[in-house]
Formats: sequence, C-alpha cells, structure tokens
Amino acid sequence: MAKKPNKEMRRRYAEAIEYGCILCKILYGVKTEATIHHLTGAGMGLRDLENFIPLCPRHHLYEEGIHFLGRRVWEEKFGTQLELLEMYKNDTKSD
Ligand SMILES: [Zn+2]
Ligand SMILES: [Zn+2]
Repeated sequence: MAKKPNKEMRRRYAEAIEYGCILCKILYGVKTEATIHHLTGAGMGLRDLENFIPLCPRHHLYEEGIHFLGRRVWEEKFGTQLELLEMYKNDTKSD
C-alpha cells in the first residue's frame, strides 16, 4: 500500500509554518515566519519526511542557520534537532 501522500504532509507543513520558527519561539518568545527544515544527520532514519521542524530563514539558511553554520556548530548553539523535534511535537499534539 502506498504511503499516504501529499495531502496529509501538506497539511502538516502548513501547520508548522503557522506555528512559526521554533527557535525564535524558544529564545525570544516571538513568532516569526517559518520554513520547513527536514532533520539532517547520520543514521536514525532522520531523512524521514515526517521529521521536520519549522525554522525561520535566519535560523535555517542565513547567519544563524543550520545550513550556514553546519549541523554540529548549530546544535551546540541551539540544541539538537531531535530535542527541538520533540519539543515541537509535544507542543503541537495538544492543540
Ligand atoms: Zn528563528
Ligand atoms: Zn533545512
């Protein structure tokens, strides 16, 4: 049976974008416009489509971005992607 496709994932991405950047929320208590970041890294099935967190362009791509600083430096600074994923999931499941 084919994996449930795009509709459900699109709904979840929209929900994540609506949630805002998780780091801006944690660090500054503000909601900023988010983009979807799929977890990166070795092993652990991290490439799964469902493993994503919302990050603003700054925390995603630019000066404080995981794709700019590199995963190790970024995770030392902000916490691991898995921790953030857990926080995001915990925070969104009750609504
Ligand atoms: Zn941010
Ligand atoms: Zn990314």
